[in-house]
Amino acid sequence: MYNKASLRADEFISHEEITATLAYAEENKENFALIDEILAKAELCKGLDHREASVLLACEEPTRVARMYTMAEELKKKFYGNRIVMFAPLYLSNYCVNGCVYCPYHMKNKHIARKKLTQEEIVKEVTALQDMGHKRLALEAGEDPVNNPIEYILECIDTIYRIKHKNGAIRRVNVNIAATTVENYRKLKEAGIGTYILFQETYHKESYEKLHPTGPKHDYAYHTEAMDRAMEGGIDDVGLGVLFGLELYKYEFAGLLMHAEHLEAVHGVGPHTISVPRIKRADDIDPTVFDNGISDEIFAKLCALIRISVPYTGMIISTRESKEVREKVIRLGVSQISGASKTSVGGYSEPEPEEENSEQFDVSDKRTLDEVVRWLMEFGYIPSFCTACYREGRTGDRFMSLCKSGQIQNCCHPNALMTLKEYLMDYASEETKKIGEALIQAELNNIPKEKVREVCEDHLKKIEEGIRDFRF
Ligand code: SF4
Ligand code: SF4
Repeated sequence: MYNKASLRADEFISHEEITATLAYAEENKENFALIDEILAKAELCKGLDHREASVLLACEEPTRVARMYTMAEELKKKFYGNRIVMFAPLYLSNYCVNGCVYCPYHMKNKHIARKKLTQEEIVKEVTALQDMGHKRLALEAGEDPVNNPIEYILECIDTIYRIKHKNGAIRRVNVNIAATTVENYRKLKEAGIGTYILFQETYHKESYEKLHPTGPKHDYAYHTEAMDRAMEGGIDDVGLGVLFGLELYKYEFAGLLMHAEHLEAVHGVGPHTISVPRIKRADDIDPTVFDNGISDEIFAKLCALIRISVPYTGMIISTRESKEVREKVIRLGVSQISGASKTSVGGYSEPEPEEENSEQFDVSDKRTLDEVVRWLMEFGYIPSFCTACYREGRTGDRFMSLCKSGQIQNCCHPNALMTLKEYLMDYASEETKKIGEALIQAELNNIPKEKVREVCEDHLKKIEEGIRDFRF
């Protein structure tokens, strides 16, 4: 039986409820009175539940679909302004005991190069990332209790936070590792992680079990209930995501929102972020064998509807997507993007030799960070390297209440300008610097509170003098 407050995966992600939701959405996809009512509710910025959002997803009437896009753009502007937070993934190890059929790190892949970074190699990789200008990382590792035990992950986090190279520093480490125990989540919390990210891959239990035929990840309930254990372990900020293309997108969309509703019902705070990866070509993986691939149009509609349904949840898109797709969905609600990513183990400090390929997937957007930063600015956005909230203890429900009241903007905007200024001073090309300086000057006028503007201007001057790491 469906119960969003239950701690059992089969009750808070009830298959029957998703099936009933999809049937309801199909029945009502031309019920324009209901659709207009849902759109009016969405306009209040309080979000939508999975049934309401699924009706909008099913609706194909062009003027209403156009309204969904416009509303997503408006909500994006209202809550996230024109800022885009930057991050990079760092792959620690691709040893993995699981059998996920869509990932080249699956255990049976005998020809992919298996690598695990030593602490010395981490220093090199992180130094290279700092030299690009990155301040925020997402750590990635396969599941392997022998090669990648929790102690290894903790040691890596400790090493990363200690590396201070020139003016560089990694100020926020998010972690994307396999579902684990409350005790291990507590250790990650103590190590000072930002967000714990775990993709559900698919919410469809039967498909999930087929797609994960072997290894501990086969256990659907253990995987699906991981965020509850993470929160029990004290991690306030968790990041959800599905791998679009594995199952029917309408099913995944309803499941994703039900998961968000569950976290809110049980822990009083929804997901901090939602990632929207689509399955991509990789070593021994051909994405065309998965018959649920989605077009760029449907992908854009999903992004817009996630924005409308959970306005306070950050949305993340990676370099899996091309520049063109990224341009489209950034407008519709994406708030964080990766730049200049390597999806191999190692590769930031030295290019990986071709015969030693350890990539998890092909990267579509291969531009440098400087190019991505410039492109964002030319396109009207402020690239932000801000990591302030978690360092100021603004996490979980504290963060959400600031977000819901709109007060967080008083921090986000000046923080974006100050961290961009650091980037321009320390890492940008001349051309990027020129565009960035003009942007900062123009954007200072958009800080509404005079006092905040003055403090920000003062900090910008101090950054020019060589002082770093100011934050609101
Ligand atoms: S998706 Fe994760 S758990 Fe599955 S094979 Fe790849 S690295 Fe391992
Ligand atoms: S102030 Fe907080 S919410 Fe805003 S960009 Fe910085 S870390 Fe994110």
